[in-house]
Amino acid sequence: MNYFPMFFDLSGQKVLVVGGGEVAFRKISLLMRTGALITVVAPEILAQLHKMAHANAAAQIQLNLQIRKFISDDLNQVRLVIVATADRDLNRSIAKLAEERAIPVNVVDDLKASRFIVPALIDRDPVLVAISTGGASPVLARRLRERLEALIPQRFGPLAVWLQELRKSSGERLPSTAVRRRFFETIIDGASASRFIEGDKQGARRIAQELLEATLASLGETTVHPTTVGSVMLVGAGPGDPELLTLKALRALQDADVIFYDRLVPAGILDLARRDASRVCVGKASGGPSTTQDSITALLIRHAQQGERVVRLKGGDPFIFGRGGEELEALAAAKINFSVVPGITAALGCAAYAGIPLTHRDHAQSVSFVTGHADRQGKEPDWRALAMPGTTAVFYMGLARLEHIVERLLAHGAPPSRAAGLISQGTTEQQRVITATLAGIGAAAALAQLESPGLLIVGDVVALYKSLKWFTR
Ligand code: SAH
Repeated sequence: MNYFPMFFDLSGQKVLVVGGGEVAFRKISLLMRTGALITVVAPEILAQLHKMAHANAAAQIQLNLQIRKFISDDLNQVRLVIVATADRDLNRSIAKLAEERAIPVNVVDDLKASRFIVPALIDRDPVLVAISTGGASPVLARRLRERLEALIPQRFGPLAVWLQELRKSSGERLPSTAVRRRFFETIIDGASASRFIEGDKQGARRIAQELLEATLASLGETTVHPTTVGSVMLVGAGPGDPELLTLKALRALQDADVIFYDRLVPAGILDLARRDASRVCVGKASGGPSTTQDSITALLIRHAQQGERVVRLKGGDPFIFGRGGEELEALAAAKINFSVVPGITAALGCAAYAGIPLTHRDHAQSVSFVTGHADRQGKEPDWRALAMPGTTAVFYMGLARLEHIVERLLAHGAPPSRAAGLISQGTTEQQRVITATLAGIGAAAALAQLESPGLLIVGDVVALYKSLKWFTR
């Protein structure tokens, strides 16, 4: 190991920065957050640094600007030196002086002259992930940083602060180290922390409280069984392209104990789940055999009650023709904790990948998402509104009832010449798009023999496809 990794408490410590340009500015910005007492020495100093030094009383104590050349006495009582002038020889001579006095020195972009180096940082203060390649490849360190950035939730810092508070308030009510550790593992691995990370602090606190009470209640029992609070995350998987998954959805998949997914969930997405998660298909081919809605909700409830982290994964967005609302109603009635992660719904995905803007100042002032299926009571959409000019109508589950939809729109005053498009297997490599007039779309569809799933878009915006299409295989 070339370097010893450590985190240095600099609060109230004298730090010298030689140099007053951009590079120095970046280092000083970071140093300011540590509470170090910083002296900057440079004949010329960036305006931003002047501003920073005059910003507030605290900054004025912390940041001392010396507009002059470096002298060796600047090193007196200094804990740490950062050298960042544009003059390499000067940098090295200052580094040498620091070395003679055994003061740790970093010369920016000069590994050889540096005693310590500053890592690439993933900043979730107070959680810090520092990356170093020992100077071998800063680009590699940056790439690694980018990957970890995406993986570590933004609210990881506040989560750590909350856990610290929780340790004070609840920790002392739990009698032994073993029980405490188990309690915090359950919080961090379970619904409570994921709630917090999603931004629902109250939900997180409530679940933690439930867990604390359950843990305290189980203390008297002779066999200690782990107390967990299960939860269900209703997650949208997007329309097809796995890259359209949200970061939250990805995290849910990586945290899940069990995943119940629909047939429509895009291929490749389940591969992103935690390897140990069990995957259960409860899907539904339109008209084909399927698990009934009641038995799906019963499954979700049972697994959550066993303390598992359940992911209910649906194609597109769970609240758009996904029965997400119905499933949540059942969970709410059973008092199961749940949360929802939206997904890119088929209308948005297909429209984007087909180059059909759903609204456009010249062509469409509104857009409707409509089911092509009549519901259980045979309720029909408001055909007159959908046939109006200046609107875009997107029909889900419309392939099988295409003729009926076209006939209804025409009967309610839509002109036969209005543009219409069908997108099948949108956003995937198999995507196909056909466009025609409303009157002609039926014949065009019959000719093209599109595979399901397919989406119908009716409106003047569809004509833009010819000039805006970009996703071609
Ligand atoms: N919750 C889903 C929709 C479920 S209904 C969502 O938000 O997207 C199923 C219908 O969605 C299909 O019949 C089809 O009309 C549409 N659909 C879903 N994925 C699609 C895709 N990749 N391409 C075209 N249509 C799609």
